[in-house]
Amino acid sequence: MKKRVYIIYTGGTIGMVRTNKGYAPQKGYMQKELDTFSELKADIMPEYTIKEYEPLLDSSNMSQVEWIKIAKDIEVHYNEYDGFVILHGTDTMAYTASALCFMLEGLDKPVVLTGSQIPLCEVRNDARENIITALQIAAGGEVSEVCLYFGGKLFRGCRSVKTSSDTLDAFGSPNFPPLAVAGVRIEMNEDLIMKKKNRGIHVLEFGDYPIAVVKIFPGIQTEILENMLKPPLRGIIIEALGVGNIPDRDQRLASVLNEAAQRGVIIVVCTQCLKGYAYIGEYETSSMLVDAGAVSGYDMTAEAAATKLYYLLSKGYSVERIKTLMHENLRGELSKPLHPDMI
Ligand code: ASP
Repeated sequence: MKKRVYIIYTGGTIGMVRTNKGYAPQKGYMQKELDTFSELKADIMPEYTIKEYEPLLDSSNMSQVEWIKIAKDIEVHYNEYDGFVILHGTDTMAYTASALCFMLEGLDKPVVLTGSQIPLCEVRNDARENIITALQIAAGGEVSEVCLYFGGKLFRGCRSVKTSSDTLDAFGSPNFPPLAVAGVRIEMNEDLIMKKKNRGIHVLEFGDYPIAVVKIFPGIQTEILENMLKPPLRGIIIEALGVGNIPDRDQRLASVLNEAAQRGVIIVVCTQCLKGYAYIGEYETSSMLVDAGAVSGYDMTAEAAATKLYYLLSKGYSVERIKTLMHENLRGELSKPLHPDMI
């Protein structure tokens, strides 16, 4: 029997057409184009249903509302399909992939996000290959997690980042090897793929929490951080220097951080380096963060850390529990053994 894949088309460059105002999505275009792909009629290809969202979005406009819509759609169609493909703009694809990793609790089937740098309407494009291979991976059943396929590589969703705005290998997973490489064959890295859970799927809807992500740079003024840390902020991802350092010559910063922490603001420290860990406490320049009870985000991407914070806040956990779980491995988002409960 043919495998069945549910395609969710959210928008993005992949399905855009030329208009007199520049590239823009067009209703019905994706379905019409896919119907003309002879490759999709091959025996080895799955049957598919395409669900076009309204409105089709440039992914810069994605938010928790759309993440929930996608997750609920997957939940509703979960038993009818073998896998899911999400066609998405590249700009925030790594955020949506990370968010879905947390939101889709108990996921046991492939969910593959893809898009393209050049739209399908152009003669030379990367959309066609990305769609065909994403469909094969979604039908293949080897992976049982949220992942992102682009430019010949399959990445774990919560490890992926957009690394290039204009080359066709637009994504990377700097702290984790690809789950698969699609060359002559699609070579799966079996040892890295998540094991099936058989617990049933459940969507944890994210709430609209006030959180922030800030990148530290030389000369950043304490007032900037002070303003960001004011109520109603619930949590902040600090993209710190190197292994988690910040400029500490202005001693007022210590009280700014401590006051925020006492109000229950969760401070998570990631590195702004593309590769490697943040681990506060190694250098004196991170001691203000240690003293304020900040948590190290280890080798999480800022995308994973921000969506994980949404997830843990949405679970309704206490500040202390959130801080503990921030540095546990829940979905493969950081390099530690998996948390036994994989909540
Ligand atoms: N701005 C577009 C978007 O993210 C770019 C793309 O689709 O690749 O929707």
